Amino acid sequence: MKIMKFGGTSVGTPDRMKSIVPLITGEESVVVVLSALSGTTNSLIGISELIYAGKTEEAVSKNEALRSLYRQVVSDLYSTEAFKKEGNELIDSHFDYIGEFIAKAFTKLHEKAIVARGELLSTALFHNLLREKGIGSVLLPALNFMRIDKDGEPDAFYIAENFKRELAACSDENIIITQGFICRNAYGEIDNLKRGGSDFTASLIGAAINASEIQIWTDINGFHNNDPRFVQNTKVIREISFDEAAELAYFGAKILHPSSVNPAREKNIPVRLKNTLNPQDEGTLITSNTFFEDYKAVAAKDGISVIRIKSDRMLMAYGFIRKVFEIFEAYKTPVDMVTTSEVSVSITVDNPQYLKQIEIDLRELGSVEVEHDQSIICVVGDFRTERTGSAPEIFEALDTIQLKMISYGASDHSLSILIDSKDKVQALNLLNQYLFNR
Ligand code: ASP
Ligand code: MG
Repeated sequence: MKIMKFGGTSVGTPDRMKSIVPLITGEESVVVVLSALSGTTNSLIGISELIYAGKTEEAVSKNEALRSLYRQVVSDLYSTEAFKKEGNELIDSHFDYIGEFIAKAFTKLHEKAIVARGELLSTALFHNLLREKGIGSVLLPALNFMRIDKDGEPDAFYIAENFKRELAACSDENIIITQGFICRNAYGEIDNLKRGGSDFTASLIGAAINASEIQIWTDINGFHNNDPRFVQNTKVIREISFDEAAELAYFGAKILHPSSVNPAREKNIPVRLKNTLNPQDEGTLITSNTFFEDYKAVAAKDGISVIRIKSDRMLMAYGFIRKVFEIFEAYKTPVDMVTTSEVSVSITVDNPQYLKQIEIDLRELGSVEVEHDQSIICVVGDFRTERTGSAPEIFEALDTIQLKMISYGASDHSLSILIDSKDKVQALNLLNQYLFNR
């Protein structure tokens, strides 16, 4: 059985939705995981923010605007009056539901219940499209089997047990449709796997049933060797290992949610990135095979802050770094890059939420400097320490760029460099020229 996950742009318009039908019907048996229509999750968050702010009228009008957008979708998606009518009833049930929250006490839980409408709508609309076409399929509610634990991590055991039970109940269907992204939390409330989490759903359920392949369908041919938004002449990478894919996804390649690599890697299930707009293209295949190449790809991650801690007490001391990291741990803030000298440590984080408190606590240990608007450039390639001569090409390329931190030696697959975000586009282009076009 295969998993095929389609992202927001792949189901973003009635035509796009129709165009994925032949892709899934060619399969023997498949679980189709859908995101919300592109833009919907953002709009639902926008409505929630207006409700928080007590802006009742604006919340109502934004909700109604979204309702009419979906009315248009329904009118273009179905050809029969009966399905159009059913589609409009479906839409009304969801937008009336959202309307119920407006002008009342509002919490994060309510917001999550609202945001879940996106995937509930896309999957129900798509299921009805298949019904109208007479194609057998079943819609399995993700809320019956997707679950996170008290720490917000997916409960793999629960997911596997419950998904397999649900699947067994519809074993004569070849097409199973379910929602990406949404889940229940440890208390049974509606929750989600965070932004972009539909890929994670696909990987988790793929691992749960030992799928033959997990396909992630987007609107680009696969991983590119550089960021196509900022660099021209980028090329598609045809094969890449789980480790390399994880680095690329984590350090900025928007095509794949970084957490989604793990479940597939653990069960050794190939992941294929495919393009709905160009389905003939083979895409990128991610497997456990590693074949080293000097340079495979470059990616950049923005929104990084760097914290520099300097202390004379660190001189010949042990336990200092532990104290520093304990502070980040206390605020549940993961760190990305770390460099140390005898008396100072530099650490980068991508989540500034608790940075002020972290800074105050760190001052107990030494002087602290914080700088925002930084980017991490990650070069994926052959960085095994036995190899010589790779770094000079990178540093030659970046000769004119201020390098703030360098992380080399931690991974066989990558080297990361911290720079000012304002230099990012130039750095990506220089690396493209020096590493891939010489
Ligand atoms: N719809 C959700 C989002 O926009 C989940 C996803 O598309 O992966 O973040
Ligand atoms: Mg995505």
